Amino acid sequence: MKTINIAIDGPSGAGKSSISKAVAGDLGFIHVDTGAMYRAIGLFALRNGCLTPEQITERIDEIEVELKFIGGSQRVMLCGEDVTDYIRSPEVSMSASKVSAVPAVRAHLLDLQKKIASENNIIMDGRDIGSVVLPHADLKIFLTASAEERASRRYLELQEKPDCPTYEEVLNDIRRRDDNDMHREIAPLIQPEDAVLVDSSRMGFNEVVEKITALIHEKLD
Ligand code: C5P
Repeated sequence: MKTINIAIDGPSGAGKSSISKAVAGDLGFIHVDTGAMYRAIGLFALRNGCLTPEQITERIDEIEVELKFIGGSQRVMLCGEDVTDYIRSPEVSMSASKVSAVPAVRAHLLDLQKKIASENNIIMDGRDIGSVVLPHADLKIFLTASAEERASRRYLELQEKPDCPTYEEVLNDIRRRDDNDMHREIAPLIQPEDAVLVDSSRMGFNEVVEKITALIHEKLD
């Protein structure tokens, strides 16, 4: 059976995951957040003493990443442990950004991502979904917003947490991750030529969900 595959790429903090989750829920599709997979490996690197790229490459076969979908919600398993609740800290974000440049890490996750897409109707979000993972996706979207807007949104979310960083720290973090993602040698963040650009800088959450849902209906109907 041919499955429906929608690819959503874009920089950190553009709202890809929350928007993809809402759109997937409306359509009855599975939302696959590939960033969570890189975050799980970032957590593995931190827990094992900030592994270098060489050390991660050597130990790659030990790093079992698995996704489970419970009630439409994605859980990320690392070596059998559900780490979903431990992968959102700024330390893990930065570690994920670093490990994602390691070729062995990308190869390790690619097969799993392709397999999930071949078996389910999905909305998959990440950095290289339209360019590398699903080059034949039914629809590709590049969702972005200015770095300042992305930092403001992230800063507001972090306000509720203890040890909240300053706005400048959040902005610097976003810029550093953008730089890592766009300039790495393997599968850098790019807007594929056949992707539809959605700039959410001046759009509300619901507006973006409606716009993307409409683009999908337009393509599939
Ligand atoms: O999307 P999220 O911020 O959770 O992703 C965490 C990190 O994983 C990103 O900074 C990026 O470096 C990396 N990533 C990637 N390719 C993907 C998804 C995420 O390199 N498809």
